[in-house]
This record gives sequence, C-alpha cells and structure tokens, in this order.
Amino acid sequence: MTHPVCERALRTWGEQAQMLMVVEEMSELTKEILKNINRKKDNIAEIIEETADVEIMLEQLKANYGIEEKVAAYKAGKLNLIEQRLNEWDKKTA
Ligand SMILES: [Mg+2]
Repeated sequence: MTHPVCERALRTWGEQAQMLMVVEEMSELTKEILKNINRKKDNIAEIIEETADVEIMLEQLKANYGIEEKVAAYKAGKLNLIEQRLNEWDKKTA
C-alpha cells in the first residue's frame, strides 16, 4: 500500500514533477555511492538519507504507473533467480 504522503505528493505536485524527482534522487544516491567507493569517504549518513529519498520516490513511481503488484511479483521472481544462482555458486566454491 502506498504511503498516504506519497499519494498526496503525487496528487499535489503532479506526475511530471514527481517522476523527475525519481531521477534526481536516484542520481543523488548514485553520487554518494561513488563518493564512498572512489574517495573512501565516510558518508554513511548521506547514503542513509539518499536511500530513504529513493525509496520514497520509488513508491511514488509505482503509484503513478499503478504497477505495485506487478513490481512485487517480478521482484519475487528475480529473488528466486538470484537464489538459484547463489546455490550454484556455493556448489562450485564448496
Ligand atoms: Mg536526496
């Protein structure tokens, strides 16, 4: 279920502004991850903040396109696939 604040943000500021915010927040998280890896920076507080921002925006993205259930189903399938690969990996490295 979409958080009421996410629903309200989407309704108030509109699809275009909010979908641009998804991209903006994803790029902010990207930047912090790269900073952490490349500059060995202690920026965990920024990573926490940007992760929360991205999760909020992804919630709005899913609500905007009405794809919450389909994403959840796809995610479950992908997690199964990853689990299979991990099991094969473990067998190879055992
Ligand atoms: Mg941000």
